[in-house]
This record gives sequence, structure tokens and C-alpha cells, in this order.
Amino acid sequence: MQIANLLGGARPGWRLLTTLSAVILSACSALPTPAPLASPPSAATSSPAAPDPYLAQRQAMVERGIIALGIEDPSVVAAMSAVPRHEFVLQEYLGQAYENHPLPIGLGQTISQPYIVALMSEQASVEPGDKVLEIGTGSGYQAAILAELSDEVFTIEILEALANSAAQRLERLGYTKIHARHGDGYEGWPDEAPFDAILVTAAPDHVPPPLVDQLAIGGVMVIPIGPVGGYQELWRIERLDADQVQATSLGGVRFVPLLRSGELDD
Ligand code: SAH
Repeated sequence: MQIANLLGGARPGWRLLTTLSAVILSACSALPTPAPLASPPSAATSSPAAPDPYLAQRQAMVERGIIALGIEDPSVVAAMSAVPRHEFVLQEYLGQAYENHPLPIGLGQTISQPYIVALMSEQASVEPGDKVLEIGTGSGYQAAILAELSDEVFTIEILEALANSAAQRLERLGYTKIHARHGDGYEGWPDEAPFDAILVTAAPDHVPPPLVDQLAIGGVMVIPIGPVGGYQELWRIERLDADQVQATSLGGVRFVPLLRSGELDD
């Protein structure tokens, strides 16, 4: 895409400093066909006290799909090792919960590929004490990873049914640091700004100006930008001071589009 268009042309005061190109990533929303295991372990019966029947699968995913692909931050690796992804997928995809690809979560949406979740978390430089905003709660998985890394996570989902089910799931799993709400994330969460990190997990065709406004000085936003239905570019955008941002391209990705509340039926 045109670099000049990155900020949507909607922010006359903003100055874009530099752009760099980096690796090209694999697409993250090419969906597999459902292929349930013959007898997957039941997610419904797991509890914090019970042994985790998915532990070995999760460790294998972290070794092959996270560390081997270049994720180095030990706190991100620990978070990916800790969060039970099988709790965030639909029953019919339990057998694929630890494969390194996205999976459908209903309503045309997806839980992202584990590697992309790890990459975005690493690039956002999330640390203990940080206040983090996620746009696109979906299943709640990325929010759970962020909660392992930071003190407070705010997450917004535009589809009410997904917002409700994710909020219930996160509560059931004990993620008390996560505040989830239903709404249009394009506008951010102004009452809770500024944020040390913002992760956008659905793709707009420009950076929503309210999100830049809500980024703390020194804060980082990780966001896919590009046309609906096509490949996008993943950007790391650091707010250097009141009116300068530095954008770095992290390569090509594929996300579901960022929807706007005016486009929905409900
Ligand atoms: N982070 C999610 C996966 C994201 S899929 C997870 O870990 O499971 C992208 C999500 O963004 C979808 O659930 C979609 O409904 C939501 N979304 C799309 N446009 C949005 C908007 N404007 N505000 C908030 N959520 C949005």
C-alpha cells in the first residue's frame, strides 16, 4: 500500500517518520477444513487442578510453531506455553487447537494463527505494568496471552454474540485482568487511554486516528492494514512524541476485515 495512506490522510498534524521492510509472513487466515480427532479430550471437563491432556500438544506447538519460527521473547514463549488454546476453539476444532493455523470461531470470524498471536505480542513489547488495548476480542485468546504479559487488558468486540461468549469464557478461566466489552473498536476505549500497547486483530485500510490518539508516548501499536479480502501488511507503529510516529513493516499477513458499527445489521 501507499505509505502516505497509512494514517488515512485524516491526521494533518501527524508526521510519519520512517518505514522499513522486513520478513514476509505466512498468511494467517487460510482456513483448514474441519477434521475432528477420533476422540479428542474434552475441554469441558478440564479444570485448573486436573492434569492438562493438551500439555504435550501445546509444548510441541510452542517448540515448532513459535520458537522455531523466531519468537525469542521468553515472556511471550511462557505466555504461549501457559494459555490453553483448546479452551478458545469450537468443539469441532478441538483436535486442531494446537496446529499453527487460524480456526473458525463462528460468524465468519477466526481465532488467529498462534505464531501471529506470538509475533504481535512480541512486537508490541508488552511488559508487566502495561495497560493494553486489543481491538477484535474474537475468542478471547489473544487477550488471554496479553493478560499473561501485562497488568490490565481492555478488549473490544463488535459482534455481540462473540463479545458475550468471550467475556463468559475469560471469566470462567479466571482472567480477572481482562475487561471485555461490546462495541466498535475503531473508536478505541477513550475513557481508559492512554495505552502502552494497542493490538488490532482485524484489518482496516488505514490506521484509525482515535487509536493513535490513545497510544501513550513511547507506546506501540501492532496493526494489519490493507484491502478487504486481500493480503495486508502488518505494521508496528511507535508513538515517538505528541505528533510523530514511526512505522515499521513486519511483512504480509491476512486478517478478517475491521468492520464498522454502521455496516452491521444489529
Ligand atoms: N483476537 C481474536 C481473533 C480476531 S478475529 C482471538 O484471539 O480470537 C477478528 C475479530 O475482530 C472478529 O471477532 C471480529 O468480529 C472483530 N472485529 C471486526 N471489526 C471490529 C471492530 N470495528 N471493533 C471490534 N472488533 C471488531
